[in-house]
Order: sequence, then structure tokens, then C-alpha cells
Amino acid sequence: RSNSTSLCPVLTKFQKDCATPTPYLREVANAIADDMRAGLAVEGGGDLDMILSYVDALPSGNEEGLFYALDLGGTNFRVRSVQLGGEKERVVATESEQISIPHKLMIGTSEELFGFIATKLASFVAKEKPGRFRLEQGKERELGFTFSFPVKQTSIDSGTLIKWTKGFNVSGMEGKNVVACLNEAMAVHGLDMRVSALVNDGVGTLAGAKYWDEDVMVGVILGTGTNACYVEQKRVIPKLQSKSSSGTTIINTEWGGFSKILPRTIFDREMDEKSLNPGEHLYEKMISGMYLGEIVRRVLLQMCETTDLFGPFVPVKLSTPFALRTEHLCKIQEDKTDDLQIVGSVLYDILEVEASLEARRRVVEVCDTVIKRGGRLAGAGIVALLQKIEKDTKRMGSGKRTVVAMDGALYEKYPQYREYMQDALVELLGHKLASYVAIKHTKDVSGLGAALLAATNSIY
Ligand code: ADP
Repeated sequence: RSNSTSLCPVLTKFQKDCATPTPYLREVANAIADDMRAGLAVEGGGDLDMILSYVDALPSGNEEGLFYALDLGGTNFRVRSVQLGGEKERVVATESEQISIPHKLMIGTSEELFGFIATKLASFVAKEKPGRFRLEQGKERELGFTFSFPVKQTSIDSGTLIKWTKGFNVSGMEGKNVVACLNEAMAVHGLDMRVSALVNDGVGTLAGAKYWDEDVMVGVILGTGTNACYVEQKRVIPKLQSKSSSGTTIINTEWGGFSKILPRTIFDREMDEKSLNPGEHLYEKMISGMYLGEIVRRVLLQMCETTDLFGPFVPVKLSTPFALRTEHLCKIQEDKTDDLQIVGSVLYDILEVEASLEARRRVVEVCDTVIKRGGRLAGAGIVALLQKIEKDTKRMGSGKRTVVAMDGALYEKYPQYREYMQDALVELLGHKLASYVAIKHTKDVSGLGAALLAATNSIY
């Protein structure tokens, strides 16, 4: 063991292994773009699934009437009603409610889960104020269903569940049409509502953001996990069977699956081996909120084992997987005090250690290294999408503003991550093209997007 004031070889090597200099970052962006093309050519052609969303008609702003959104993707589900007033009035009224799902329903039967959702939806509708929300005579209520689990979409309003994730394991659902399950439950519970659109979270964000700003071409989620969707020209999608291939459609890239030429360290490898999907989603494991704290924890653990980072012992808490979370890294990097007091208190609260100033500085460096790599790699992904769009539309080249709509708490709450991402964007695109790109934080527009897609795909 060397003492803590001497050089720390673990940290030095880690920083070196995480480096993403511009030429290398460009290679990553190109590799992502290659896998996008491969995925558009044939099913399973590349690491990115490039799923056809069947969303061809994007909201125009003229939508009118009462529509609903249901978002199911974690331990809570959200319902929203939206009264649309057309081009001028836009969103006349909207209400939403979040309902937590009892754990036993996450591992029960599909009748139980969807029955519960239908009942809650029915009481949400029953509470509606007739003055604010108005269903036109002769119309049934229509719903945009955001279902954030792996789905094989078969049309705008049908899709089969590939597998449950995130702690869900509802029996008898895999391979079934999730829209039919919800429609049946609503009918059983006497609710006059039907699903008009099945949408992915990113697609909802893109559609919702585009309603307010028509220059939106990309929707990115950076939260616990990550994904990106974008507007693609149908004529450049070889795997699209339909012969009438003019116009645009939204592609759900599932970019978290990208797994080539990434700057992996021993800590990434070890975390991956212990994960539920080893060898997969390596990009997601470097850029999304679920993993960044865990990478830092693993680095700090090895620093403790090789130097007296926090004194002669390895803190017990540091050996607990996922003890350190991305929120903690964010707090650590916020600290502007000379003696890094906040860093000290986070380390005390989470790891139960009294860290010297030298140790606190090192912890900040580890966090910064992980966040810098994550932010820059996320930037490279966005550049891959923008360059693909540019190649087929030349919009930025002709001076047209192009907007990336962003949602997710990692992007929203981590300023350093945002800055590193923006730096990467400018480095790779160049100042001129980058000046036409705006990254806009669009919070919670995915529900509005889903309701709008129900409107665009209304049967009435
Ligand atoms: P979702 O789970 O649907 O992605 P969010 O967009 O709220 O939901 O993202 C939550 C994730 O964002 C957390 O898992 C965490 O990684 C990250 N996060 C939450 N709060 C913060 C914060 N204050 N600073 C940095 N990251 C945060």
C-alpha cells in the first residue's frame, strides 16, 4: 500500500483508459452510424435494432378533441387526458395522475395487472370535469399507450411483448399482443376506451416535442436507461417492405444496444459480467444513469484496496453493489467549496468514511472521468443521428435549425454531463453545423406525444 498523497496508479490508468479524444470519438460516431445503416438494411443487421415505429403521421398541430395517454414502464403508471383545441388553441386542458403498481401485480397474471390499470383509468375518467373535458358525440375515448418494455411492433396499434424487464414478470404475456390485453381489460371493466396507438417512450417524446416545435428531428431519453428516436426518410430504409416508400417515419434506434469499439475498462467489464445482460447494451452501460455511480464505486473500491484512500481499511459500504448512485456523483461535482465539504458529507453519509481533502479531490476526479466519458459518448451518438439526417436531408447545410428533444433526469439534473455532451457535439460537427443544432430539454412531453399519436391515428 502506498500512502494517499503519492500518485495513484489506479486513477491514472483509469483516466487513460476512459479517454475519448476527438479522433477516437469520431470513430465511435461513425461506428454507431454504420450500425444504424446495418439495422435499417435487415432485421438484426447491427447492434442497433432500428425498430420501425409505424408512426408516419406526426402531429400537425391541428388535432382536436379529447385524447388519453397511458404510460406503463416501471413501478408507476401515469394517465393523462388532453383536450386539444386545434392550431390556435392547442392544449386547452390536461390532467394527469400517477399510480403506483402493487408489487404482487408485477408478478401476477395479465388479467390482474391490466384489470387494475383499467379500473384506475375508469376512475380517472369518472373524475373528469365536464366543463374542461368534452368527448364528441358518437365517439369512443381513444388512448395512446406507452409501453416501455421490449415489444415487436406489428402496426401502429399492435405489438407483442418480447420479454418483461425491470422487475416485471406477469405470466402468460410473452408473445401476446399487449394492446389486445389492455383493450380486453377496458371492455371487461365497462370503460368505453380503445388503444389507437402503441408508442415507445422516445417516440412519444419526439412526437410531443414536435407538436410545439416543428424543427424537432430527434428525441433522446437519458434517465435510468437511454434510447433515441428520429425522423427518417422512408426511401432510405431497405427493410421497409411497403412499396410506397415516400415520406418519413420515426425510427426507434434502441441505441443502448451499441456495443463496439467503446473505451471499456476493467471496471466496465466486471460490472457487465455481473449484470442481467452480460455483453449487451455496453453503450447504455457507459452513458445512462443506472450505471455511472456503480462504475465510480468499483474504481474507488480498487483505489481503497491498493492505497490508503480512506485510511487503512476498505469501507464495508463500498463493497455493496450500486451503493453509490448517479445522484451522488452529481452532488459531489456540485461542490464549489475550497475544502470540498459537500464531497466529504456525501462520502460520510453513503460510505461512512471520513475522507481527507486529498481523498475528496481524488473522488471528484473519478466522478469527473466517468461523467466526461459518458457525456462525450452520448454526444457522439447524437452526432451519428444528426449526420445520418444531414446526409439524407441536407437541412443543416442549408441553414435549417434542427432540434434534439431531450428528456430524462440524468440530462436534466447533471450540468457537467450536459456540458461534456455539448462539447463533443461541437468538436464532431464543427462550429458551423453545430450552430444550427439546438438541444432542448422537453420534460414530460411523452404523455402529450402519446395522446397526440392517438389523435393522429384516430379511427374517427
Ligand atoms: P426513468 O427511470 O424513467 O429513466 P428519470 O428520467 O427520472 O426516469 O431518470 C431517473 C435516473 O436519472 C436515475 O436512475 C438516476 O440515474 C438519474 N438521476 C436522478 N436524479 C438525478 C440527479 N439529481 N442527478 C443526476 N442524475 C440523476
